Amino acid sequence: MLRFFSTILFFQFIFFKSFSQTTIPFAKESTTSETKIPIDSLSYIFTNTQELKDELETFNTFFKNANQKPLSVKENDKNTVILILDKNAKEEEYHIQLKRSNVEITGSESGVFYGLMSLFQWMTQSAEKEKIVLKDNIHDYPNFSWRGLHLDVCRHFFPTGFIKKYIDILAMHKMNTFHWHLTDDQGWRIEIKKYPLLTAVGSKRKESILEKNFDPYIGDKTPVEGFYTQEQIKDIVKYAALRHVTIVPEIEMPGHAQAALAAYPEFSCDKEPTEVWTQWGVSEKIFCSKDETIQFLKDVLDEVMELFPSQYIHIGGDEAPKNAWKKCPACQRNMKINHLKNENELQSYFIEQIDEYVTSKGKSIIGWDEILEGGLAQNAAVMSWRGEQGGIEAAKQHHHAVMSPGGYCYFDHYQDSSKSEPLAFGGFTPIEKVYAYNPIPKTLNPSEAQYILGAQGNLWSEYLQVSSQVEYMALPRMCALSEVLWTGEHRPGYENFKTRLKHHFNTLDKYQIYYSRVIYNIKADEKTTAKGKEIRLIAPFKEGQIFYTLDNNHPTTHSTFYQANSAIILPKNTTLKAQYFENNQAKSKIFIIKNENE
Ligand SMILES: [Zn+2]
Repeated sequence: MLRFFSTILFFQFIFFKSFSQTTIPFAKESTTSETKIPIDSLSYIFTNTQELKDELETFNTFFKNANQKPLSVKENDKNTVILILDKNAKEEEYHIQLKRSNVEITGSESGVFYGLMSLFQWMTQSAEKEKIVLKDNIHDYPNFSWRGLHLDVCRHFFPTGFIKKYIDILAMHKMNTFHWHLTDDQGWRIEIKKYPLLTAVGSKRKESILEKNFDPYIGDKTPVEGFYTQEQIKDIVKYAALRHVTIVPEIEMPGHAQAALAAYPEFSCDKEPTEVWTQWGVSEKIFCSKDETIQFLKDVLDEVMELFPSQYIHIGGDEAPKNAWKKCPACQRNMKINHLKNENELQSYFIEQIDEYVTSKGKSIIGWDEILEGGLAQNAAVMSWRGEQGGIEAAKQHHHAVMSPGGYCYFDHYQDSSKSEPLAFGGFTPIEKVYAYNPIPKTLNPSEAQYILGAQGNLWSEYLQVSSQVEYMALPRMCALSEVLWTGEHRPGYENFKTRLKHHFNTLDKYQIYYSRVIYNIKADEKTTAKGKEIRLIAPFKEGQIFYTLDNNHPTTHSTFYQANSAIILPKNTTLKAQYFENNQAKSKIFIIKNENE
């Protein structure tokens, strides 16, 4: 009897989710199929094509990394995922078709991989008591070719295991570009065989500034060190290629060079010894524009270009104070000989030499938008970070540009106004704002707009000390950006995105990826009346409940249930603590309002 009863209960609590459109990013086109396939019926995967074997294997490693059972590689007539190469398909485009009990994924190599990433999401996003049933045929392709995420490994260092996980996170969201910020004032993180001191000296700093104690300076007395060997980099580049992620390395010049100059002070203007910087901000120590320094940088780039197959090499170019150049006889002579009016033009002259060199090797440079000042080098692309103006100017000059404006794309900014957030650099870039971003500025006409390659989220690591914190800041804002870049104008709106995100969190949980639960935040309307503060709470989703206390206890599902739209009167010297729950589980942070005595 007991068993019978529990069977009934069990079935009662299975929810059949019959939609294919749960992926992030959202698939562009879908049509209802006559066939329906429960996702957990799929057991086998198979391809006839040699070119797709890597995609198949890589797909299965995602399950291993998520502690889930991979599909059996076997030709079977049912319950099988079949991969088919279509040589006429565009890069990154794929079709998913439901045929009897099989799923066929057709496309280019990268397209099939993205089809598999959709499948990976479906197979991992159901909660315990849900069942996902595929019912749509899908045709999908991206809006932008540069779908990027950046990571600063200089302010803090992250081990190779995490870099690989980060690449997995990109790939699972159909992001295709990893911008690896490898050199800065606070650390040089790439082995260069010709200049061993770059890592022997430049990869180590004695401490970091403690929180925001700039003046007077207080250090945390904790050394930071680390770099990637060329062997490790080759391994990571290969790992990324299997996931259709291109790594764009960044070697900063002429500014953000203090770690390099700590190793080789002869490449500065004053040749004075210096140490790897322990502060955040803009250092005065920059590379001298003399020929020896340019040659040094060309040597470095030779090794970098050998390691990274990427078409683009990022050369920084931002935040380069020119005071050292103004006092330097070599730099002043350089300006005179080359008829340069000011130090901005000297920076352009500097970058032009690098541009020419990189172009001669069949590659292209990209730099932060400061490289526009004093004239843009002939073949350079621009990464627009101080708003969108740099990207707009580049496009108007028919140069390629990638948008990463601080207000939308800086994921080291705060994402939540709550006081309990970990210390961040500053700023406030909530996920709703990221989701609303359009990388094509309205001021560009269609022929100029084609120079905008896409956009990128940036994670500067001054206040990101450990990898879990990087994940927390990146997600779920990067999920929103992936949809902006892949789905573009076809994306179905923030409310729909938020609902899909809840399922997506199951995938992230299985992959042990940290993320912010900011979408579960309770919002409140507050007004002051004679009786005290009058508060109305707004739940983030309709399906859950808010419970609250007025006695300073943490809310539980046994606390007072909040009736939607009702007013809570908060007398003086009282604290309201409220929390949002779904299925008896707390989902939000505790929301607190105090009515303190005046
Ligand atoms: Zn100089």
